This record gives sequence, C-alpha cells and structure tokens, in this order.
Amino acid sequence: MFFRDVIGQENIKKRLIQSVQEERVSHALLFAGPSGTGKLAMAIAYAQYISCSNRSATESLGVCPSCHKYNKLAHPDLHFVFPIYNSAKNSKPVSDDFITEWREKVLASPYFSFSDWLDFIDAGNAQGMIYERESDVVYRKLNLKSFEAEYKTMIIWLPEKMNQVCSNKLLKIIEEPPSKTLFILITEDEEAVIGTIRSRTQPVKFPFIDDESMRLALQSLEGADPAQIGDAIRLAGGNFIKAREYVIPNEDEKFYFHKFQEMMRQAYKREVLAQMKWADEMAAIGRDKQKAFFAYASRLVREYFMMNFNNSEMVYLNEEEKNWGKQFAPFINEQNVIQLYNEFETATKQIAWNGQPRIIFLDTALRMVRLIKK
Ligand SMILES: [Zn+2]
Repeated sequence: MFFRDVIGQENIKKRLIQSVQEERVSHALLFAGPSGTGKLAMAIAYAQYISCSNRSATESLGVCPSCHKYNKLAHPDLHFVFPIYNSAKNSKPVSDDFITEWREKVLASPYFSFSDWLDFIDAGNAQGMIYERESDVVYRKLNLKSFEAEYKTMIIWLPEKMNQVCSNKLLKIIEEPPSKTLFILITEDEEAVIGTIRSRTQPVKFPFIDDESMRLALQSLEGADPAQIGDAIRLAGGNFIKAREYVIPNEDEKFYFHKFQEMMRQAYKREVLAQMKWADEMAAIGRDKQKAFFAYASRLVREYFMMNFNNSEMVYLNEEEKNWGKQFAPFINEQNVIQLYNEFETATKQIAWNGQPRIIFLDTALRMVRLIKK
C-alpha cells in the first residue's frame, strides 16, 4: 500500500512522512475518524514507508524486498488484529485464523466497513469482536525479535470491538512497547475505546475526504458510472465507501432491483402464475439474501415515496432506480407506504423465524396486488 493509494488526507500524509524523516515515529497512534476516510489504507502505507529500504521523500518506491512483502501484506513484521467471531467450527479463533481472508479483502480495496468485513467472513448473525486471547498473541509476536524490518508494526483495526479484558491486558505493552514497535489503532468510535488506551496513544484525527480528491478517486474506479459521480460526492459526504456504492451498484442490489420490478409489474398486471414462479425463484436464494431483499424493498419504497416530493437532495438512488422510479414512484403514496413497509417487515420476521420462504414470498407478492392499485 502506498500513500498514493490513500484518497486525499494530504495533511496527515505530510505529518506522518515528516515524523519518519525527523526520526520521531510515535510508538502508538490512534487513527480516529468516520468510516470510509482511509484510516486503514493510511496505516498500511505508513508502515510500509517506515519499513521501505529505499523510500523517497514522499513515497515508498515499491521495489525493495520489504515492499514486495508489503504488496502481499505478508511481511513478517507487519501484524494485524481485527474483529472476528466464534463459530462451531472454530470456538477459539484469533485474527490469524482469518488472515487469508483479511489479506484478500484489504488487497481488493482497503476501503470497507465493519459490516462489509463481517459479510466477507460469513459471520451471519454473529457479532464480530476482538477476544481476550488476542492479547496473548500480541505479546508473543511483539516480544519476538523483528525478522527483517527495523520496525514491527501492529495494526489494530476497530479497538472499540475489543473485549474489556483484552483492552486491559494490552495497556502495558502499548504504554511500554519493546523498542522499535509501532502500534496503530484504527477507530471509528473514539469514545468507545477505553480511556486508558486513548490516553496512551497519540491521536490522528481523520476528517471526511475533500470533494476534489473524491472526484479523482471515483473517476479512476473501474466500472464507475460517470453520470453518477456528482451525486455520489454530494450524497456520500466525504465517505468513500458510500460514494463507491453510488457509482458501482453491487451485483446483489442489481438482482434485488430486478426482482422488485418483477414483483411490482406482476402485481399491477395481476399475473398470478408469474407470481407463483417468482415466489419459487425467491425461495431458492437463501435466507440472508431473502432478508436483504426485503430490506432493499423497504428502502426503495421509501426513496420512491420521497421522489414524489421532488426532493432530489433526499433521494438516494442510482441512475437505473431513478429512471424506473419516474413511472413507478407515483404508485407509492400516503395511503400505502406504511402498509408496504409493514408487509416487508412481517415477511422479514417470518423468514427469520424459519417460515416457508415460498409461502412468505407468494403471500407478499399477492398482497402487492391490492396495495399497488391504490
Ligand atoms: Zn521499499
């Protein structure tokens, strides 16, 4: 990861680079700021820069042995701790058990949210957290001699998800780390990090990304819809993760949108046979996606309802959704909007309670006939 991979945040880059040049690298930093502002990308770029054996005044050059290992996030002196979950398969996991997934996710893009991460590791309904046992791993790793680099770097992503005992155990080593050790803690909720850890770290506050840097980053995204960039910048408010969602709708959302269109068209035309077939198809997609479909349907109904007030500032839709909404939005009104919500919510609960998906989807589809006529 290079500094050029971090979107905007030029002041922070300068400060960090300066700290290396002046040989006053802090032993514990707390990168704090909202999701989607590049804290993780910056932490890795900084660690790589420190470890690079032929860096320039502004960047790692990417050609030394250290950079080669950093490019795969596989440097033996680069360590990560992040939230994970207990499962039947592995009841006492530590971060390293998920390191392959972590590398894959971060290398695909270091801009992702906590819930993106949990989805990626199939956490289902499990809560992600950093368990007590993780602190033993941290001590063990940092008390080893560094393998190759001058510095050992320990990046702790989301210390607010750390179990209390784990936090307390880590206090001492964060306060008095072995020499040439760098802790970078990355938080989205500074207040939720225990005060004794906060007071032992030097804060680096990440603001939202400026519009110009955001524009450049979105323009260079593969598959981005250029027509959406202006809206994305305005609506995302400096959060790159959100902005990217506007310019690149994900595959699941495209599928949900298509299924939502089918549901509404069939209801409008009262095509009962088509509705039965539709329900069969929806029954086959798995419970997580079924719930996600209804969440998506609720959101779409809300946005189309808002569209009727011509309040485009308040409407969060991609181009395709917006276009279709020009015809469909008038069907959503004060009379049916709450009932539609309730239908989707009831269906979600029934799915969560292991109801028969085929019946739930057919019921919902049939109820649309009455609701959408109004
Ligand atoms: Zn290098």
